[in-house]
Amino acid sequence: MPKKIKDLVPQPKSRFLRVKCLNCGNIQIIFGCSAIDVNCLICGKVLLQSTGGKARILTKILEVLS
Ligand SMILES: [Zn+2]
Repeated sequence: MPKKIKDLVPQPKSRFLRVKCLNCGNIQIIFGCSAIDVNCLICGKVLLQSTGGKARILTKILEVLS
């Protein structure tokens, strides 16, 4: 009998992250599961890179907001 177990592990779906740009020090809140790349508003450095479903944070995370 097939069992659905993939739902057992909670995946963070919608989390906002307070991050600090390593380049210019700008603090910015970004969507942790964004489907598109997120750039620093000040200097344009890529803060979050979308890798097709899972986002990769490329900067320092200060805080995870729920
Ligand atoms: Zn920056």
